[in-house]
Formats: sequence, C-alpha cells, structure tokens
Amino acid sequence: MEKGALKELIRKTIESIVAPTIPIGVSNRHIHLSGADYDRLFPRELLRPKKALAQPGEFAAEQTVTLVGPRGTIERVRLLGPLRAHSQVEVSQTDARTLGIAPPVALSGDLSKAAPITIKTAHGQITLPCCIIAKRHIHVAEADSSRLGVHHGDTVAVRMISPQRTTVYEDVIIRVSPDYVTEMHIDTDEANAAQISNGDTAYIVR
Ligand SMILES: [Zn+2]
Repeated sequence: MEKGALKELIRKTIESIVAPTIPIGVSNRHIHLSGADYDRLFPRELLRPKKALAQPGEFAAEQTVTLVGPRGTIERVRLLGPLRAHSQVEVSQTDARTLGIAPPVALSGDLSKAAPITIKTAHGQITLPCCIIAKRHIHVAEADSSRLGVHHGDTVAVRMISPQRTTVYEDVIIRVSPDYVTEMHIDTDEANAAQISNGDTAYIVR
C-alpha cells in the first residue's frame, strides 16, 4: 500500500473508533395524515398501531393507502401515527419517477414546495400538495448533542459504514429535541446506494 493511502486508512480507522456512532433507521415511503384527512380516507375506523418506531410515541399503523400519480401508482403505503396537524407523503426519488411527479427534497414539515399527489383508499380519495422527498437528517436526543458536538439546525457530513460501499453523505440536517432518540434517518434510495440496512451505524465526519 502507498504511504498516502495507508495514512488515509489509519486516519479513517482512528476517526471511526473515536467518533460516537449513530444508529441508522431506513424510512420506507410513508404517509402522515391530519385528523380531517384520516376521517375522509378511513371513515369510522380506529387508527390501529401495528409496530412502535424508534422515536417515542411514533408508530406504523395497520392502515395503508394507495398513491396515485400521473404516470403510476404505488400500493400499500404505510400510514404512520399519531395523526398530525398536516398530511404529508414522503417518497424516494425512485418512487417519484414511478408516480411521475417531481417532489422537492425538503425537511419534514416544510410543505411550501410540496408536489400534488392523490391518496386513495377503499373509502375515498383526496389530492393534496403534500408530497416531499425527505431531506436526510439525524434526530439527536438533547442529552447527546454535546457528545456529538452538534446543535439544532447544523448541517453535517456523515460516513455510513458498509462492507463494500462505505459512503459519505453530506447535507445531513441535525434536529435536536428532548423528545428524540438519537437516530439517523435516510430513505430507501440512500440506503440502497450505500448497501445500508436498519441498525447499521454512521458517524459524523469532521
Ligand atoms: Zn426522522
């Protein structure tokens, strides 16, 4: 091995030992619904939790919807609970191609440029400008922020470790809250590109 390459390998190895690791959660396409939109799509039906998610209080529901775009449809898109103030659909870039829409990459909650999408169930359908590609982010528990050396709103680069496709992702947003469990969220396209699956780890690159 060349001296330069060896030096770089040693630097990366030390960095990966010293830097605190962050578990990765891979978000498949999903939907959040407002109470009013839920009632239109699932009238007289209770929201039924199926599986708890890592973030406290969040869960995958039994209910699913179908997304309909100008070019295609995607069935069995999972509803996440609890219900929110605004409905929001989160898809990958690959999903967006399938549907034939061009949603922006945006932080969850920022629907200012969201793409219109039709959401369908056996009971009805609604079309709302609420579809985004979620910007990759790290939920940081307040107690972990100093250990990780980050503040709410920071943008960081993160190295994700996989056997043959270790990948650095830039443009990762830090979100700090006492209500969070520390976890990095990426979508299925980002996970597949780096051959990452749920529970793999990442660390912040300085
Ligand atoms: Zn998240």
